[in-house]
Amino acid sequence: MARRKQIYEGKAKVLFEGPEPGTLVQYFKDDATAFNNKKKGTITGKGVLNNRISEYLMMRLEEIGIPTHFVRRLNMREQLVKEVEIIPIEVVVRNIAAGSISTRFHIPEGTRLPRSIVEYYYKNDEFNDPMVSEEHITGFGWAAIHEIDEMLNMSLRVNDYLAGLFLGIGIKLVDFKVEYGRLYHENGDVQVVLADELSPDNMRLWDFKTNEKMDKDRFRRDLGRVEEAYQEVARRLGILPESGPTDVKGPSTLQ
Ligand code: UDP
Repeated sequence: MARRKQIYEGKAKVLFEGPEPGTLVQYFKDDATAFNNKKKGTITGKGVLNNRISEYLMMRLEEIGIPTHFVRRLNMREQLVKEVEIIPIEVVVRNIAAGSISTRFHIPEGTRLPRSIVEYYYKNDEFNDPMVSEEHITGFGWAAIHEIDEMLNMSLRVNDYLAGLFLGIGIKLVDFKVEYGRLYHENGDVQVVLADELSPDNMRLWDFKTNEKMDKDRFRRDLGRVEEAYQEVARRLGILPESGPTDVKGPSTLQ
């Protein structure tokens, strides 16, 4: 097969031209970075697991009416997605304090927040992804006010849905980051859809009983057993690659 034309290479994924206009192929690498590229490494098999986990979660979210860029998984490391214009805002939703919110406001890690807190960051490595307000987003023209509204509403729905899904398999959804894109329809409509990926690379997932970390913090903080943690998330979701595409059993609820 002719090699596809590369459109963009990011830290954890590569985007290639898709088979039809308006589509892209998203390839998941094993590369891991943290602290704005200062720490680099490889997590063997991460790309395969994230491809699978992201496919599963995007499909579940589509089922509850969240529009996403996901079309279908193509193979172990690639998925077909709709081509969108990425809105340069990272939306972070937090349920439990960890990472930067703990540092910034001196809240001990693990403290449950009074309610889910949403933050916006401007996606720009050069500026170290600064936290921004709605005023910055509209003032600098990164997104319109109605787009911020849609991103906020969708992010809260994603949070409620995923928090419940993970709770059912004995995992606390501490926080996560999502990105959105503009999907340009042929009739001229522009729709804000969930894009990028949903995986332990951009979520904090803690075991419900032990609080053991099952996400990229294992890499960031050199805790070891990184692959195993990602694999355990996939296993509890019932989607380990070994089970094959036709016998995905889905999550088994813990009693
Ligand atoms: N996050 C991400 N990409 C980023 C920054 C954060 O996916 O560039 C995710 C991170 O994995 C965590 C959440 O967003 O689940 C909140 O991250 P935080 O602001 O605490 O930053 P960190 O501690 O990772 O620097």
